Amino acid sequence: MRFVLLIAAALITVVTFQNCAGQNPADLGVSHDHDEAEAELASLEEEVAFDEAMSMKATTVTPQKPACIVLKSSYVAKLTKMYELQGVRVFYSTDAANPDAVKYLADKNKNKHPDYVEDIARQIVAARAGLNELGFMDPVQSPRYKAYGVQYIDVHVRNLSGNGLAYDEATVYSNNPLKKNACTLRIDLSNKLEAFPGGWTVGAHELFHLYEYGYTMFKRSWFLEGMAAWGERVVRLGALRSNGLTPLPATARQLQEEVFAVNYNFMWDRLAYLSESNKNVQFSLSTNLQKATYIDGSNVYRDQKLLGIALMKSIMRNLAKESTAISAEKGWSNFFWAEADQKDPVHDKRMIRAVQRAIKEMNLDRANTSEISAFLKL
Ligand SMILES: [Zn+2]
Repeated sequence: MRFVLLIAAALITVVTFQNCAGQNPADLGVSHDHDEAEAELASLEEEVAFDEAMSMKATTVTPQKPACIVLKSSYVAKLTKMYELQGVRVFYSTDAANPDAVKYLADKNKNKHPDYVEDIARQIVAARAGLNELGFMDPVQSPRYKAYGVQYIDVHVRNLSGNGLAYDEATVYSNNPLKKNACTLRIDLSNKLEAFPGGWTVGAHELFHLYEYGYTMFKRSWFLEGMAAWGERVVRLGALRSNGLTPLPATARQLQEEVFAVNYNFMWDRLAYLSESNKNVQFSLSTNLQKATYIDGSNVYRDQKLLGIALMKSIMRNLAKESTAISAEKGWSNFFWAEADQKDPVHDKRMIRAVQRAIKEMNLDRANTSEISAFLKL
């Protein structure tokens, strides 16, 4: 444990992040070692503990007005290569002596960048363009990150214990000339995702966290992870986890135990399912995105199935209003809350109210099923 904490301390400094197990491709027939997954989760928990400890420090050193945090993490200086695609910059290493070096170096199109790196960029760029076409607010264009002057989404390919991380702080890394001192949002992705892209959608998952951060200050995992597990499916085969068939919580106890206490809870999938009258509807996408491919020629959009897009946008807007209202009540900046306040379970009830308002605004309560009625009374 001490070893993990020391590594984390060296690499992560004061910024805080959302740990993501992400959805691995196991449900698409790619094997995933169970013991390995367990081990990854154990180290993620240690990193969570570290995150909690460091967040105290972060709240005391970060200014109250929007300003990019300037960092000089030593590993960033050693990510000496960059692949840039439409506002997304992927930083990586191919130096065998660097533990962060990309493990898969195939370069089919011979452009001197590993296909692994290009495919990460292609997934994130295409998922971002699609989410924007579907009407979600691009994080770089959000009022929050405009206030910080964010210019790019940067991806650091690293030797992670998990699959990916997404950070909500706007950061500048001043010790890597390729960075050009730009203020950026940051995603970390593992340097060893086996057979990527295959069934992997962890790039889209981490990207979706940036959308969540752009809308609202809440960093409750039942919201961040549950909704990102929904959002990454924009580029993933199949419409919803568990086909949207896991019922909504019907009691306060179920809401607590099955939603608030469960990061990757199924409430979001069920709401998405209930929000659509036609369960076979496909979302529309521009021709360019329909044709977007990975280096192996396969389509980035594995299908165009994702139920609940209108509802999720409405929920995001309602959560945005709710965090703005709390900022006003507490006298906090709209765009800077202490880490402990972002993660405070005291917000859970108001966040659920925001979800319920979205359901009513879409007139889903008119269906008046006992399931929706019970949920709206929680
Ligand atoms: Zn996540």
